[in-house]
Amino acid sequence: MSHPPVPPFGEGRGAGWGAPPPPRRPGPDAWRARISSLAGAGRAAERAAADLGIRSVGDLLLHLPFRYEAFDEATRSLGELAVGEEATVRVRLEAIRVHPTRRRNLRIVRARVRDASGQLTAIWFNQDHLARVLRPGDELLLRGELGAGSAPELSVKSHEVLGGGGSEGLHTRGLVPVYAATEALTPRRLRELVDRARPSAWAALEVLPAWMRWRLGLPAITDAIVAAHFPRAAREGRLGRRRLVVEELVVLQLGLLALRRAEGRRRRAPALRPNGERSSRLRAALQFTLTREQERAVAQVGRDLGRRQPMRRLLQGEVGSGKTVVAALAICQAVEAGAQAALLAPTETLAEQHLRTLDSLLGPAGLAPVLVTGRVPRAERDRREVALRTGTASVAIGTQALLTEGVTFDALGLVVVDEQHRFGVEQRQALAERAGATGDAAHLLYMTATPIPRTLALTAYGDLSVSTIRGRPPGRTPVDTRWVHEDARDEAYEAIRAQLRAGRQAYVICPLVEEGAEAEARAATTEVQRLAAGPLAAFTVGLAHGAQPSDEKRAAMSDFAEGRTDVLVATTVVEVGIDVPNATVILIEDADRFGLAQLHQLRGRVGRGEHPGLCLVLGEPATEEGARRLEALTQTSDGFKLAELDLDIRGEGSIMGVRQAGPTDLRFARLSRDRRELATARYAARRTLEIDPGLSRPEHVLLRAAVRERFAAIPRLLDA
Ligand code: ADP
Ligand code: MG
Repeated sequence: MSHPPVPPFGEGRGAGWGAPPPPRRPGPDAWRARISSLAGAGRAAERAAADLGIRSVGDLLLHLPFRYEAFDEATRSLGELAVGEEATVRVRLEAIRVHPTRRRNLRIVRARVRDASGQLTAIWFNQDHLARVLRPGDELLLRGELGAGSAPELSVKSHEVLGGGGSEGLHTRGLVPVYAATEALTPRRLRELVDRARPSAWAALEVLPAWMRWRLGLPAITDAIVAAHFPRAAREGRLGRRRLVVEELVVLQLGLLALRRAEGRRRRAPALRPNGERSSRLRAALQFTLTREQERAVAQVGRDLGRRQPMRRLLQGEVGSGKTVVAALAICQAVEAGAQAALLAPTETLAEQHLRTLDSLLGPAGLAPVLVTGRVPRAERDRREVALRTGTASVAIGTQALLTEGVTFDALGLVVVDEQHRFGVEQRQALAERAGATGDAAHLLYMTATPIPRTLALTAYGDLSVSTIRGRPPGRTPVDTRWVHEDARDEAYEAIRAQLRAGRQAYVICPLVEEGAEAEARAATTEVQRLAAGPLAAFTVGLAHGAQPSDEKRAAMSDFAEGRTDVLVATTVVEVGIDVPNATVILIEDADRFGLAQLHQLRGRVGRGEHPGLCLVLGEPATEEGARRLEALTQTSDGFKLAELDLDIRGEGSIMGVRQAGPTDLRFARLSRDRRELATARYAARRTLEIDPGLSRPEHVLLRAAVRERFAAIPRLLDA
């Protein structure tokens, strides 16, 4: 194995005469101990650490540095220092004091320091307290750079007092760890605390069995933690971190695989074999032929439906890629086999939209879906629920409430879930528990228009199979996307007016307002007035936002859909689903505030018909990251590529626009970076479950506990 192992306590000692007895290994208590139990750390440090989510010594040890300062190992003498070169020296302090300067914000601390080769002045900027803390006579390590001039001074970048109980060279020599820190808890202070906590690394639980560590070439947990904080070489630090990344991903993959296996074993689903009678009628009525990718998805779904093992499949394809028709064919197959099907949408508006689309797709196949949402009048809803319970209605469309509010089915065989990223692993489990009257589980098909890079899909949804539709149906021109700067705003309005005069329609998307929906609504209302009185005065302007009563919102949407308004000013309520082929231009205000995935969704609102689409994004990003996002948006219309870029730009976890909390959250792994580790972890997890399906062997006991802790929301996972 390549890394130089940190010698374990006890080993190789105590063998000879006079050797010291092996130190006692600290137990689990040392791992759970409070921060204030560390020498030199008080309540203030404890509170400051808590702000970083660090509540125990163990948490502290898992707070890894995000980079290292590479200082050289050896110290030099003062006489050897060269101008303009950074170096570390070991000196004795002779005198120190604060020098005010003429500049109000600048104060300099000057110290006379000496070593065997001579003496020098060392300086610090704006660190008055050092004049109180450092004492003449102190032995110091100073890291800094020698300035030019006739009396050159050493400008100090980092210093430490020797003999203070810490590890010598902690701040000044070799690879010095740099931590995410706060004002109250500086990287320097964190470094000291981690150094004090170092012996407690022996209390870390070794979760990965020896065979796996050996097979994957990973260091033991204690070595890994120590190496990640205080590596002796860059490679050692990487290996330490890698070990923690792999461990995290192994635990995750084990949980997901176990979940999938448990489902497959516990429940059988009805085998829904197609007879093609309805689906051939649906196909015959289509205005188009399916693309090859659509056909492949239809075949994959069809095959799954024909099995007794419940289907758990993710159908991903970006906006407008034609997922709905794939779902419609799956629904046909279910009904042909005598089962019922349900489609769940994340909002009532989307459920209504799906009803319209599916009505026209399924009509020729002799199917009339029923809508079950809170908006349907009670009496009518009762009638529909009876129809579902008795099996007179075969297809239901609604929000998730359709399944959770105790609507029962005669023989539910297929559940299609739209926009699956809004549901976590736990909700998926709840859905899976739903069964028809026969006690069989339903097959599940999840659809998402937020394309997820395959690597992420494997991690977050390791328990799902994936079908992907890339690209959009033939004959569509990609939406022309332009980043418009504030000084060209008038030209943007002119472009919109040109489209409106040609009979097309436009969206104007208002910025996200952090204070919430109310404030967002106010801003949107003001924007409507501004546009209607100014740049778009010649046209009718409608308004839709999240704080509107639902009738009002629906009216605004349908006015626009049916062409009674030319422009729809909206907040992100139009993000998903709304389908108005005559709308060809969308203007997005403060676009840098949106995530890339969300911008791509919004852009997908135009270019849905025969006319080419235009997307104008306004925004003056305050950060480099924001600028890169907008840049990326204008450069590609491939949602998958954008999703990958988003990963690279923002890191994982934000791909869905919001950070998801739950068992699939990652602490150490970065999917944009750790793809190899992900593959390794999947392999290791599979292999482990092959040799020990319940993780019940002694060497897997801690691994099992870790999986169960992570998936605490899913009780009895891994139970036989
Ligand atoms: P999404 O994947 O966003 O749900 P839809 O299923 O709503 O996409 O499809 C978008 C539009 O493309 C619809 O109007 C649909 O009728 C049309 N469409 C779907 N498949 C094809 C195809 N193979 N050729 C041409 N148009 C298609
Ligand atoms: Mg759709």
